[in-house]
Amino acid sequence: MLVAQEYKRSYSVSSSSVADIPLQITVKRVGDGVTSNYANNLLKVGDALDVTTPRGKFCIELNPEAEKTYYLIAAGSGIAPMHSMLQSVLVAEPKSKIHLLYGNRNDDNIIFGKEIMVIAKQHPERLKVQHVLSKQSKALRLLENENIWEGRIDENILKKVFAPPLSEDYKVFVCGPSEMNLACKEILANLDLPKEKVHIEFFGKI
Ligand SMILES: Cc1cc2nc3c(=O)[nH]c(=O)nc-3n(C[C@H](O)[C@H](O)[C@H](O)COP(=O)(O)OP(=O)(O)OC[C@H]3O[C@@H](n4cnc5c(N)ncnc54)[C@H](O)[C@@H]3O)c2cc1C
Repeated sequence: MLVAQEYKRSYSVSSSSVADIPLQITVKRVGDGVTSNYANNLLKVGDALDVTTPRGKFCIELNPEAEKTYYLIAAGSGIAPMHSMLQSVLVAEPKSKIHLLYGNRNDDNIIFGKEIMVIAKQHPERLKVQHVLSKQSKALRLLENENIWEGRIDENILKKVFAPPLSEDYKVFVCGPSEMNLACKEILANLDLPKEKVHIEFFGKI
């Protein structure tokens, strides 16, 4: 007899309700991971999942009067919450700006790569996208209009992004592999960014 088993995992909302986009999550396959492989291989339209109420503090309290600069630092599936945030800010905070720093191995696996390119073209004054690819060759051809730096999100890259003067009202959101998150935390502290301005989301074990 088959016994049903329950697997509980957290997934960030990657859509934006204020931008009128239906609720969406983005599940990246993790090795032999149970849930992510189930979602990628077997889950189909019409299936039902049990979900809890939303949790977590990695989000932006939108204010239509705000005139902020948001630095979103993402790598891999860490783009999921950023994709939601950037669309929400563009719709609901008309005076705020966004710098997205987005790290990937190469251009084959850039989640939301095309969508973000389209959004950036629609908001050239408000959304700046900076890709960071560790293997660049093909990317230069495919993403010719995008800003691409070669390497990883590290001290050199962060020094460039956070070169003074910074705008007065800014916030930083970081979401990527644990090692990147921890490195960013340390580097941003060394760059004298106040820790209350830096928000970090961990997907895996710290
Ligand atoms: C707050 C929060 C938000 C999250 N949001 C997202 C999201 O938007 N999109 C998304 O794809 N994932 C997200 N995750 C990760 C997700 O919850 C699962 O951990 C991931 O999908 C793996 O689950 P699994 O059942 O496939 O793997 P499991 O069967 O649980 O694990 C299989 C193997 O993979 C390792 N592993 C587990 N998780 C990770 C990981 N994240 N990175 C690397 N190795 C891992 C385990 O140690 C184990 O060795 C989030 C996690 C948290 C805590």
